[in-house]
Amino acid sequence: MKERYPRLEINLAHLKHNVAEVVERCGSCGIQVAGVIKGATGNIQVAKQFDEGGAAFIASSRLEQIEDAINAGITKPMMMIRIPMLSEASDVVRLTNISLNSEVEVIKALNQEAARQGKLHKVILMADMGDLREGYWDKEELADIAEYIENKMINIQLVGIGTNVGCYGSILPTVEKLEELVQIAEHIEERLGRELEYISGGATSSLLRVWDGNVPKRINLLRVGEGILLARDMDVFYHYDVSRLYQDCFRLKAEVIEVKDKPSHPVGTVGVDAFGHRPVYEDRGIRRRVLLAMGKVDYGDPMELLPLETGAEVLGASSDHTIMDVQQAARDYQVGDIMEFDINYATLIHLTNSRNVHIAYV
Ligand SMILES: *Cc1c(COP(=O)(O)O)cnc(C)c1O
Repeated sequence: MKERYPRLEINLAHLKHNVAEVVERCGSCGIQVAGVIKGATGNIQVAKQFDEGGAAFIASSRLEQIEDAINAGITKPMMMIRIPMLSEASDVVRLTNISLNSEVEVIKALNQEAARQGKLHKVILMADMGDLREGYWDKEELADIAEYIENKMINIQLVGIGTNVGCYGSILPTVEKLEELVQIAEHIEERLGRELEYISGGATSSLLRVWDGNVPKRINLLRVGEGILLARDMDVFYHYDVSRLYQDCFRLKAEVIEVKDKPSHPVGTVGVDAFGHRPVYEDRGIRRRVLLAMGKVDYGDPMELLPLETGAEVLGASSDHTIMDVQQAARDYQVGDIMEFDINYATLIHLTNSRNVHIAYV
């Protein structure tokens, strides 16, 4: 069959290598890795690489993705990393072994459901360390809830404390932040009179500490998505050495449907674009332009695309078209040619959610 476009090529061998590499580096610091599959919308082949590469858990924010992984035959413990909805408590217990939580009402519902299903469900309580998304801000309340779970809930097992940083508030997992988390956990351990199994110190951004070799000793679980899937953020934003990770696990390819010389400023009375916005257009005279058969529907924001084509520049897009300036391009583009792009995390999520995008494994 002819190759179809737009096309997202996934290099499974490179992906598995990345999982194994991150698992090994974390392992040498005494840290287990929960492999977060939501960045690729729970793609089953992607989930399998996380499994085979040695992740301790398969993790997602969406139960649908976890259910797909189970149906694909993955037997690793499943972790729900978004605070569960009250309305999905029974499915959380049915599909996952462990969940991150910050509301006692939800944990009570999980306890009831676990009793009904004859299960023991594990929870990690989340502490908000300043990023201001999920988690207890009041750390005494957190300790109270921990004690309440310990003493009152039969089908819930409190296995740890966790935090999330670098998502809403862009807070960095500094050594001090992570030490603060360990202190909170140790305070809870004192009140419970026992050790907690897990202290989970964040996501990909916490890999910076692994690379630096200065993760506080008791941090022993990270939940990693981007740093394995794309391995771009540590490199692009913080200039860490990721040369032992592949950055080409995902490649986007699109087909050229028009090649013409056109003015760079729209001609006529300017109103609004397809999305009701009033963009500013720079007049650079007549330029050679290429039209690609993919658009915002497929990838979200055109300005996040990273062209691998020398001299090609993204000008903009509508739902189903992407407009490229190729005036300075090295290649003499023809209709039917294929253009390649690197992608970032947001783009990957869009691409794996679009039914127009054809996924191919290489
Ligand atoms: C998405 C998410 C992660 C993974 O984040 P990455 O930056 O992709 O590693 C980890 N923990 C939680 C709670 C998340 O929502």
